[in-house]
Amino acid sequence: MASTFHPPQRTLMGPGPSDVSPQVLEALGRPTIGHLDPQFVKLMDEIKELLQYAFQTNNELTIPVSAPGSAGMEACFVNLLAPGDKAIVCQNGVFGGRMKENVERCGATAVMVQDDWGKPVSIDKVRAVFAEHPDAKVLAFVHAETSTGVESDAKALCQLAHDNNALSIVDTVTSVAGIEVNVDAWGADAVYSGTQKCLSCVPGISPVTFSPRAVEAINARTHKVQSWFLDMQLIMGYWGANTKRAYHHTAPVNAMYALHESLLILQNEGLENAWGRHQKNHQALVAGIEAMGLTMVVDADDRLPQLNLIAIPEGIDDAAVRNTLLSHYDLEIGAGLGDFAGKAWRIGLMGHASNKKNVLLCLNALENTLGEMGAPINKGRAVKAANAVYA
Ligand SMILES: *Cc1c(COP(=O)(O)O)cnc(C)c1O
Repeated sequence: MASTFHPPQRTLMGPGPSDVSPQVLEALGRPTIGHLDPQFVKLMDEIKELLQYAFQTNNELTIPVSAPGSAGMEACFVNLLAPGDKAIVCQNGVFGGRMKENVERCGATAVMVQDDWGKPVSIDKVRAVFAEHPDAKVLAFVHAETSTGVESDAKALCQLAHDNNALSIVDTVTSVAGIEVNVDAWGADAVYSGTQKCLSCVPGISPVTFSPRAVEAINARTHKVQSWFLDMQLIMGYWGANTKRAYHHTAPVNAMYALHESLLILQNEGLENAWGRHQKNHQALVAGIEAMGLTMVVDADDRLPQLNLIAIPEGIDDAAVRNTLLSHYDLEIGAGLGDFAGKAWRIGLMGHASNKKNVLLCLNALENTLGEMGAPINKGRAVKAANAVYA
């Protein structure tokens, strides 16, 4: 017989979801109201404003898509591309590959710009590819590659798109609230994010924002968007300003309470403070990791503070360590992907989970676990080194 599910109390330090704060969980449990209730419509307006802050944009079309980050990704591609179009797609990890899939499913052609996993997107390569393909309509890239913990130069890439009369599609799923995202200063055109990474909200919602240039392109479409659910022209009638708020789908009402609360927490902390906190905790973690004798995989200049790629010592069983952390410490860290499968761990310090307590817990748990497995590590130094960063 099935019975009520009581999840264990984990500490989530993987690639997402991240720990959700009690305040956000409490908001989730408030009474459900109708999705066209005037009070809910008011909440929708506030969420849009709070999202404009999180994205640093004045874009009117800034809304949460009622589905996970992957749906936000798809929303950007299906609305900007039509059959026969060409898109330049940068790949330096898992998510660039998914972008290619999206382009091709729109009946468009993807021109790939490949960079090694663990390295940022090469601006020079993208410039060269634009010279060969001046007819590209879109440039798509991932700002914060969660599969490797690498940041790419979003500002320079958006500028290149502009210079070549293309629209930029930017994945900021892992970057929003963790590192600087500045949609208007970048001149980015279609940007999507997720709720379960540095916003520390429940999974399943994808904030998106479209520039006036992107909205113009959407309104000028002659080919129907292939997805009914993600067609922005239809969604604008539900979330848009100065509309009657016609029924399109039923928004996940309670999840929107949670998103609203997590955005309020972000607003109260202030974006700069949130970025600073992520940076500080990252520095402490790195100090501890290196004091233990382990190595960071990504070059210091390219590292994401919210996702840390750590080399697994020779002869140590990746899964055994992660299983021990989970069963003995209720601590989740992420496995490596692609080129890094079995070779590196991904330690997330995202949103609410980016705090001193988690950094120290993780260092301590890792040191004990690796020590018991006979890994050649320095004992008794990691926590001290991390604390020195906080001092
Ligand atoms: C997590 C993630 C996604 C996908 O988000 P889902 O909510 O899992 O669909 C897309 N891009 C990046 C960079 C991510 O980290």
